[in-house]
Amino acid sequence: MRQPVTAYLGLGANLGDARGALDFAMQQLGQTPGIDVTARSAYYRTSPIESSGPDYINAVAQVVTQLTAPQLLNCLHAIEAQVGRARPYRNAPRTLDLDILLYGEGRIASPALTIPHPRMGARAFVLVPLAEIAPQCVALMQLDGVRGQAIERLL
Ligand code: ADP
Ligand code: MG
Repeated sequence: MRQPVTAYLGLGANLGDARGALDFAMQQLGQTPGIDVTARSAYYRTSPIESSGPDYINAVAQVVTQLTAPQLLNCLHAIEAQVGRARPYRNAPRTLDLDILLYGEGRIASPALTIPHPRMGARAFVLVPLAEIAPQCVALMQLDGVRGQAIERLL
């Protein structure tokens, strides 16, 4: 069997029942063979960045997985499809977005899969929930760099 890898996933939604979509995604991840959800951040409300529409609900999950990174991405796309994710144009509002932020120490550089996620370092909606469950993955200077971005921790 493959050695398990600790990965971090970014979850976001801003169309329809965004909280419900994140609840559903967390539940589906937990039920997927080869994926264990080992930690999850609170939910956060954030304004769209390079996107539009209503505010987003965002969270980060830590998973331990036996899947390869491409297999994991396929699972994420399957869960997105179940809540009717459409991609009418780049950065469009979305019912559910699931991204791989980190996959162990892995580095992958292809358009279909880039790890670490190329834009995670500039986004409060990734860094703040990630710092909540994996402070060792986020440098203080990175957090300082996104201080201007409004983000509200939800109870
Ligand atoms: P966004 O970049 O806003 O998340 P999409 O969810 O539509 O937009 O993703 C576009 C493409 O980005 C996907 O088809 C996927 O193949 C690719 N991609 C590259 N790296 C990653 C990653 N680390 N996590 C998720 N998708 C990725
Ligand atoms: Mg995505």
